[in-house]
Amino acid sequence: MNLAKFPRRIYTPYETPLQPLDKLTAVLGGGPRIWMKRDDMLGLAMGGNKTRKLEFLMADALAKGADTIITCGAVQSNHCRLTLAAAVTEGLKCHLVIEQRVPNSYNEHASGNNFLYHMLGVEGIHVVDGGSDMMAEMQKVADELTAQGRKPYIVPGGGSNVIGATGYAACAQEILNQCFKMGVSFDHMICTSGSTGTHAGLLVGLKGENANIPLTGIGINKPVPIQKPNVYKLAKALAEHLGVQTPITEDDVIVFDDYVGPGYSRVTEGMVEAVSLVAKTEGILLDPVYTGKTMAGMIDLYKKGYFDGCKNIMFLHTGGSPALFAYTDTFFAAEEK
Ligand SMILES: *Cc1c(COP(=O)(O)O)cnc(C)c1O
Repeated sequence: MNLAKFPRRIYTPYETPLQPLDKLTAVLGGGPRIWMKRDDMLGLAMGGNKTRKLEFLMADALAKGADTIITCGAVQSNHCRLTLAAAVTEGLKCHLVIEQRVPNSYNEHASGNNFLYHMLGVEGIHVVDGGSDMMAEMQKVADELTAQGRKPYIVPGGGSNVIGATGYAACAQEILNQCFKMGVSFDHMICTSGSTGTHAGLLVGLKGENANIPLTGIGINKPVPIQKPNVYKLAKALAEHLGVQTPITEDDVIVFDDYVGPGYSRVTEGMVEAVSLVAKTEGILLDPVYTGKTMAGMIDLYKKGYFDGCKNIMFLHTGGSPALFAYTDTFFAAEEK
């Protein structure tokens, strides 16, 4: 893949670390060696996977002459925080449309990412009910701004269109290049499967490089019959956008929904245990909404022998730890049990 032909801003002037988690591997019984790709250490305010997508999305916004970015997310959205941070970096204004996926969950003075929306100088926050047509809600804000003579640019939820997902095809190249330099080869990769840009981007990147490494996505929101075709749809469009010739089938999309629990952003016991375990064994902070549930899934699959026969497996840490500060009561309660 020649990704250099796509306009891009650089928000992380280095490769994120790729490190073995030997203490965690030992705690889990010493099977396949677990590695972690530290995309929680990407650039922009407190990092996370959206930074890679925004490198391409912001380049597109600037090329189109935008002066204001509009995006959407949940009440504790890492994507909203990072899109806002990217806008500030570029000297642009930013509006956020916040979806209350859990009824009455929006609190203007909440901690975590919500606090950072204000710290980073958001121009407008528009709160809408769960299940709203988010594209239509963002278009309303765009129309108001256009009427005032502004030039708005809409970044879709999670930055998950072909432009944003290009960031994760680039991540696949970065990982394979690091593997080559370090003399390590992965037999399996694990990532979170949310708005699909990360899962589809990584899948297409691995295909485009003919890596032959299976990728398992752990769902944190939708059931498999919805998530799998969604990932496939974006992967197909992305392969076309990037000119990847290797065929990609729906069977290449591996996704589990067994670790979602009662719903998006809702606490599960497995999540609390996984976040605590990784913090206490490796000193690494996961997050309650995405990587905590993904790690709970990886640990369960590891114990069930899903990775048997592998020598090295890689977990993609997509960030999100600022949201931990909105869940302190949950973790204190678990420690006191
Ligand atoms: C958005 C997000 C994800 C999911 O990535 P998608 O590309 O939306 O599937 C995973 N982890 C964190 C921390 C996120 O903020």
